[in-house]
Amino acid sequence: MVSDNTLETRVLCEKRHGGLVGRKLSIELSDSEHKLNYLVDAGLRDYPCRAYNAVFLTHHHKDHIRGLNRIPFQDTLTSHVISPMLNSKFSLPGLRINTRKSRGGIRAREHLYLSSGVYLDIFNISKCPVPVYEDAMIEVWGLPVNHDPQFQCVSYLIRNRWTNRIIWVSGDLYKLPKSSLEFLLRHDIALAILELTYFNNNGSGDYHLDLAAASSIISVIKPKAYWFVHFSGKWKGFEHLIKKNVPKPRQVYKF
Ligand SMILES: [Zn+2]
Ligand SMILES: [Zn+2]
Repeated sequence: MVSDNTLETRVLCEKRHGGLVGRKLSIELSDSEHKLNYLVDAGLRDYPCRAYNAVFLTHHHKDHIRGLNRIPFQDTLTSHVISPMLNSKFSLPGLRINTRKSRGGIRAREHLYLSSGVYLDIFNISKCPVPVYEDAMIEVWGLPVNHDPQFQCVSYLIRNRWTNRIIWVSGDLYKLPKSSLEFLLRHDIALAILELTYFNNNGSGDYHLDLAAASSIISVIKPKAYWFVHFSGKWKGFEHLIKKNVPKPRQVYKF
């Protein structure tokens, strides 16, 4: 195992608007020597030349999957892409189905590959948080969130097995189901990362988080630290309200 057992969390993003993290992003976790590397979401077109062990997708909107084909993996046999169940209307870049073996649709995980040769690990999140991944370094649970009702959307609770510290990374959401909230409350969250698309939704029926909703989630979960990411142009003029919780370029959180 690596000398220092902490993981470094950072936001990789393509563009910043007024100093804020834009919508094309991935969250990267890696040990200090970059031997173990993980991503949440694949919103970037280009990735650092690291070899990733696992990529966790929160949902299948374009801005979260568009770079999937460009990610360098550690080893196509042991690396994984982990994703909530697919809806046939939304495909993934480079998705291949082994039709020779496939029976009963596309749910059997051993029958799904990406063009890179990496396994696609599909899980069903319909009820409660589920364990979705485990290796010597991390343990990960998928927690449902309410975002686009057309498909399953999740957030991830990630525990460093060496330090026992936990972070929670959510993609787009506007509400947390009770089961996810209760699961979060049973854990001490060191860092929460939330996508804060709008300053104010005004009940527009859009399925994204605004500042009031984000603040109430934070006040209940009480993480030691929290980061807001994924801002849209609608934040223009309001940047000062959240600047202290927006990660700076190359800012790192160790856990
Ligand atoms: Zn989305
Ligand atoms: Zn999004």
